Amino acid sequence: MMDLKKLRVLFPGLKINENASMAEECSFRAGGRAKAFIKIENIEELKGVLRFMTEEKIPHIILGNGSNTLFSDGDHDIAVIKLDEESGSFNYMIFDEEDNDVREYGASMLLSTASKMAAEDGYSGMEGLSGIPGSVGGAVFMNAGAYGYEIRDIISSVHAVSPDGTEERDFTPDEMGLGYRTSAFMKNGYIITSARFRLKKDSKEDIRARMADFTERRVTKQPLRYPSAGSTFKRPEGYFAGKLIEDCGLKGASVGGAQVSELHAGFIINKGGATATDILELIGKVQDTVCDRFGVKLEPEVRIIGK
Ligand code: FAD
Repeated sequence: MMDLKKLRVLFPGLKINENASMAEECSFRAGGRAKAFIKIENIEELKGVLRFMTEEKIPHIILGNGSNTLFSDGDHDIAVIKLDEESGSFNYMIFDEEDNDVREYGASMLLSTASKMAAEDGYSGMEGLSGIPGSVGGAVFMNAGAYGYEIRDIISSVHAVSPDGTEERDFTPDEMGLGYRTSAFMKNGYIITSARFRLKKDSKEDIRARMADFTERRVTKQPLRYPSAGSTFKRPEGYFAGKLIEDCGLKGASVGGAQVSELHAGFIINKGGATATDILELIGKVQDTVCDRFGVKLEPEVRIIGK
């Protein structure tokens, strides 16, 4: 069991919520509780807490906006660390003084906010990302993308803290290993504190029109009325997960409160009162059925914590 008393003594002002509901923090609105949910105010605090966790061997993970994460049910003896979205250290935007096409965003800023700010200033490059309900940090980690837009195409650098809290450094695009829903951060464990995006000047009307088009497509084609984590599975090479699932007749299939969306088979939704166990069982059922029928292994895109 982790010793929270020591953490409180060492970091007197630290925002710690004990036995915190991860259902409240994750867009699936399902899942268990974390022993500690910690909101970090600034980089120095982040480094200190990470050093403490490393020395005390306390298992911990980083959470962004929780839109691609599912915690299994029950109690998790881990600390969940979030860069506070209310802190100016992590929720901000600044221009590069030497290069106006480059903007730096704090890691906890929502991608939707970042995209809208860019659009309002007449900068293009994030239109397709505007409807993704993640944070800038989570989006870089996942190399999020939609409608032909991807973080990889606009990223110019990232500032990050080492997993043991001893070092901060910048990453170049080449060092980030960004690929389809993957990044080097999945292996190296660095915590992204800010990201710089290189955008292009464009007509505000055109940017707005593209954003409105993408929003319309999302609203009509995705089951946004229900909690989910977006596409449940990664796109298998040569196929579309949603099409494979639909072709197996799984649209509408359910386990407890979890359902394969009838609107978009690529989404598993929380139809009401779903537990993480329901969702995980349904994920397994979909994987098995698709594998039996088409020989294709579907890999979850959603990050599952503790099975
Ligand atoms: P979280 O879910 O909080 O975390 C995801 C992973 O990132 C975790 O492993 C976490 O440890 C890590 N992480 C988070 N922040 C940091 C950080 N600062 N430093 C290091 N690691 C970090 N995704 C798409 O790509 N395209 C879409 O079109 C899309 N549509 C969606 C639609 C809906 C309705 C929903 C609910 C989700 C959708 N998603 C989509 C999925 C999700 O929004 C993205 O993957 C998003 O980038 C996740 O960001 P987050 O901050 O919520 O990450």
